[in-house]
Amino acid sequence: MGKLTGFLEYERTLPDDRNPRERLIDWKEIHEQLPEAELREQGARCMDCGVPFCHSGDSATAPIVGGCPINNLIPEWNDLIYHNRWEEALDRLHKTNNFPEFTGRVCPAPCEDSCVLGINAPPVTIKNHEYAIIEKGFSEGWVKANPPKRRSGKRVAVIGSGPAGLSAAAQLNSVGHSVVVFERADRVGGLLMYGIPNMKLEKHYVDRRIALMQEEGIEFRTGVEVGKDVHAADLQKDYDAVLVATGATVPRDLPIDGRELGGIHFAMEFLTANTRSLLDSEHADGKFISAKDKHVVVIGGGDTGTDCVGTSLRHGCKSVIQLEIMPKPPLERAADNPWPEFKRTLKVDYGQAEAIAVQGEDPRQYLQMTQKFTGENGQVKQLHLTGIEWKLNDKGQKVPQPVAGSERVIEADLVLLAMGFMGPEGGVLDQLGIETDPRSNAKAEYGRYLTNAEAVFAAGDARRGQSLVVWAINEGREAAREIDRYLTGATILP
Ligand code: FAD
Repeated sequence: MGKLTGFLEYERTLPDDRNPRERLIDWKEIHEQLPEAELREQGARCMDCGVPFCHSGDSATAPIVGGCPINNLIPEWNDLIYHNRWEEALDRLHKTNNFPEFTGRVCPAPCEDSCVLGINAPPVTIKNHEYAIIEKGFSEGWVKANPPKRRSGKRVAVIGSGPAGLSAAAQLNSVGHSVVVFERADRVGGLLMYGIPNMKLEKHYVDRRIALMQEEGIEFRTGVEVGKDVHAADLQKDYDAVLVATGATVPRDLPIDGRELGGIHFAMEFLTANTRSLLDSEHADGKFISAKDKHVVVIGGGDTGTDCVGTSLRHGCKSVIQLEIMPKPPLERAADNPWPEFKRTLKVDYGQAEAIAVQGEDPRQYLQMTQKFTGENGQVKQLHLTGIEWKLNDKGQKVPQPVAGSERVIEADLVLLAMGFMGPEGGVLDQLGIETDPRSNAKAEYGRYLTNAEAVFAAGDARRGQSLVVWAINEGREAAREIDRYLTGATILP
């Protein structure tokens, strides 16, 4: 495989992201790309390790054990890149992933955490190869619509057009079923469109894939909220199978004093309105929540919070801080630990890098508990905080304890709540009588996806809880396989 000595000869090299100060004045993606010759060298670093852990993700143990949830044939395409066989690399990539242009941009790359080379050297730049292969595929005109040769006569309704619904639709359509995707938003893509901001994924890349899917025969009905505009039980009657892929969109709230004040918003209100206004009018309609000249406080240290930081900085906020109740992760893995564990070390994501460039320091503050909001004239102005430490209680559980004397008040004109999501909304689940699990997600076994409702399947965040694009693709693809088996008694889908 590849160049046997490649991993000894070449250092891991990634393209620099665009300079934070320059990229803050636009909404374009932050990524750059390496020249092709350097990409080929990076492909040569894949060392034919014999057991490519990168290529197999395990749902039961993820994210503890990494590996690719969709079993991307990573060593194969690393090798094909090295040998300059890009079109074959694209073919291998599309075998397991319907949308490498999305994962190649936004996936946290559990594959790289599992790369065997990562035990004693920086891992292979797998995610960047995925991005390079698919973008070369599009620019060379190799990615084409591939409609099915014949139709099965079976009809499937997919509710929700995020990566789970889209991957299921693509797979079901490929074996000839007629698929209609219902989406309540005005644009297709789920969180790919109205969650993940432009700087991570420009929206014309989503539109480009949707156009191909339409050419392949998939029908998209936007602006249709199932449960309101159409009764979910009617879909169950009118279609041979239904897939619920509605995401986990109920946000976790912060019920403390002052929550009712103006200027306190859920992260998704802020991010969605921003993207919609950008797409509709490049912000000329003013229909977004502006952070301009405001002291912004983002509550929540995850990816959603980071997207709020990056968006606020682009608006021209006066300051931004990001609060986290958990302790600061270590900067590096422990010296006595030979295994890759990048996820448990401090990651400086794009939003933090931008805040450091503008404010001179990381916006994240750890071990912080919110006490109450106060304000003037109905608008939030301050947030009262206490430092905490995690201590064991009588039952042996770790609980946050306030640190005496650590109370303080910070300025806050705009507060963005990014503390995670509680599961899918009720409408569709109630109308179909779908049972939920203890975390309020649609109850359906991983690998089977069938709910208790007849001919109704569930996949993606609606089933698993808020997760990752790559897991949504995994579930959408597998749910399509189970639906095909249900409709025809057998399946060739993976
Ligand atoms: P979604 O993408 O949520 O799509 C569900 C769709 O269903 C939505 O379009 C919704 O409008 C529609 N819908 C809901 N109810 C109805 C109804 N009744 N009728 C019709 N349509 C309906 N993951 C990563 O891997 N990398 C990242 O960088 C990343 N960043 C993120 C940033 C943010 C701000 C957020 C919120 C999430 C991020 N994620 C990221 C997570 C990732 O986006 C999700 O895990 C993934 O999109 C889930 O896909 P899904 O198809 O299950 O649901």
